[in-house]
Amino acid sequence: MSLSTLVSTHAAQAAGICGDVRERPWCDTRLSADKRAGLVLARLTLDEKIALLGGDELSGAAGGEGTHTGTSNGLARLGIPTLYFSDGPVGTRQGKATQMPSPLAVASSFSTSTARATGTVIADEARKKGNHVVFAPGVNIGRTPLNGRTFEYYGEDPYLAARMGVGFIEGIQSQGLIANVKHYAVNNQEGEGYAVPGSPLGVAGEGNRLFVNAILGERALREIYLPAFEAAVKDADVGTVMCAYNRINGTYGCENEHLLVDILKREWGFKGFVLTDYGAAKNTLNSLNNGLDLDIWPGFVYNPIAVRALVATSQVSTDTIDDHVRRILRTMFAYGIFDAPAFRDDASRIDVAAHHARAAAIEAQGMVLLKNSGSLLPLRQRSTRTLAVIGPEADLIRTGGGSSDVNPLRSVTPLEGLRTRLGASRVLYDDGSDAARAAAVARRADAAVVVVGDKMTEGSDKMAPTLNSGQMDGIDRDALIAAVAEAQPRTVAVLQSGGPVLTPWRSKVPAILEAWYPGQNVGTALARVLFGDAEPGGRLPMTFPRRAADLPTAGDRAAYPGIAGTVRYKEGVMVGYRHFDERRIRPAYAFGHGLGYTTFRFSRPVLRRGAGTLATVSFRVTNTGQRAGTAVPQVYVGMPSPGRGTPQPPKQLKGFEKMRLAPGASQIVSIDLDRRSFSYWDTAADGWRVARGCYDVMLARSSRDVTGWARAAWSADCGPGALTLR
Ligand code: BGC
Repeated sequence: MSLSTLVSTHAAQAAGICGDVRERPWCDTRLSADKRAGLVLARLTLDEKIALLGGDELSGAAGGEGTHTGTSNGLARLGIPTLYFSDGPVGTRQGKATQMPSPLAVASSFSTSTARATGTVIADEARKKGNHVVFAPGVNIGRTPLNGRTFEYYGEDPYLAARMGVGFIEGIQSQGLIANVKHYAVNNQEGEGYAVPGSPLGVAGEGNRLFVNAILGERALREIYLPAFEAAVKDADVGTVMCAYNRINGTYGCENEHLLVDILKREWGFKGFVLTDYGAAKNTLNSLNNGLDLDIWPGFVYNPIAVRALVATSQVSTDTIDDHVRRILRTMFAYGIFDAPAFRDDASRIDVAAHHARAAAIEAQGMVLLKNSGSLLPLRQRSTRTLAVIGPEADLIRTGGGSSDVNPLRSVTPLEGLRTRLGASRVLYDDGSDAARAAAVARRADAAVVVVGDKMTEGSDKMAPTLNSGQMDGIDRDALIAAVAEAQPRTVAVLQSGGPVLTPWRSKVPAILEAWYPGQNVGTALARVLFGDAEPGGRLPMTFPRRAADLPTAGDRAAYPGIAGTVRYKEGVMVGYRHFDERRIRPAYAFGHGLGYTTFRFSRPVLRRGAGTLATVSFRVTNTGQRAGTAVPQVYVGMPSPGRGTPQPPKQLKGFEKMRLAPGASQIVSIDLDRRSFSYWDTAADGWRVARGCYDVMLARSSRDVTGWARAAWSADCGPGALTLR
């Protein structure tokens, strides 16, 4: 159901809930949301308005059953409903909920419908727990895989992050809930630090997210860090935005006029409201005047005494107060919150079994098969009489710490899933605490699956991009994989990592499957993928480096984690694969890479003028293998540089498609490229521009596996085969 139908059904059913139209004219559902908000506003006293600018709940952020992550009290006198908010990107954080695959796993699906399905499950549960707003999706960019929240975001590419965010928001908002895109903006690190055992959050020192000042140019801001927010507003009509803790070019996210007013509200035309990350507002005057609408937790900075004093002394105008209140009310009307009965907190209505199954299906779509020598996978169930299942993460499910740490309704660990699949007597389990013993177990079996994970948490970054970083159990996971693979030639390494890690053992292991932080039903998904009833559907949303020194920010503390609280984005737009391509550094596994159980042929791409768009690239995808499977053709554009100060990455993702094809079947795919696909941010002109010159349009299996080229020309002669765009 589309959002508009859903909202209007709510409205129609809800006649009378808001109140009598004669006394409360804003209850007339025929009026526009703007009009209705204006009518309420006219009846509010200044004190009532100010009260609506601050949240009212302190302790719900602990995630207890029956609480809410946030609450903003309404006003009984005028029938303004109370608003309830809940985290987050992996599921509702309010007692138990379905713990979905992490957003990075969802991004790996390269499927907007998978992102939408994830948002739909989370919103359904959030609603049944009585919430209106879900604090998700997080669309910050994977500038470094050390970021403690890498698992919560959609990877290193702005186009992929935008498409995933839009899908997820559509899923949330299709349920009549309001999504909250976060953390606006440039919140790409938690800070150098430690995951403290027993603490829900990490503790960061240098580069701490709460204060760090990210210095970056307008071009990198526009091309890399903002597109996913822009798409959330323009393409998905997101209802709310969460401003970030950090500073951006000297000014805190929740008082940043350039970001909140100039770009978000004026340029993009955002009509919803901006709320704070928890405790992110620092200064009442600056936030009121520079675009923050709601200080949610719990209104410390927007406390009535402080706000009133600023209005009384004319440092903040009543128009400014009205604008903030109008945005909150307008959003509530637009989402039918005045017209529908309040959502009840009654989790018994959740279809636990269906969501559990959905979690496994989505996880299978997000698992990335990095390597599969000799077609070791899929394993054959008949010939795998005994399977060794090994590792410290074989019998647990890795999740990231912090506000995405969901208390699962059910759980099936890898070990449990494989025992169910094969029968317990055929599974030999070892926890991997002693590599020699684990190797001996592996040797006795027909094949081995070694499951290892990493540790990531909100609040602090990893010290190194490794599996072992921050682990407290003393197990050397890299050594364990190598020892098992040495003992058992049929070994599959399965990673439950929050982001890319170093894989120093990769040449020794025939098969590597990245499962990410996989959600509560990983065991079911893993058994299906390993034995081939499902294909691993994922492609990498982040580059796997061969060495830590190859990362764009390596070896320069000013670039990361910062020095004395200032981090300089010196690499500009050369983030992720853009950096690896530009420097010609071979990655361990490239952005966009991922194998399946069949093979595909992509025909030569043909570029034409598009109908309603600038250009369309078309090609045929054929399944040339023996099994059904999914293909993910990717379209990259290589742009000419407009001048020396504006270096261009060799390629940038501008389109992709995911399709499932039977053996021998083929399909014609057309991908639209709009003007933005060919544009760069011209800082001097303060706008998007298309540079004069020749463009390469590349069809690829990954950022390092281009199968075909087409050319386009913009006010230039690029040879006979080139399509003239202008
Ligand atoms: C996180 C947000 C989260 C909020 C509420 C903050 O610490 O940065 O992502 O939504 O807490 O739990």
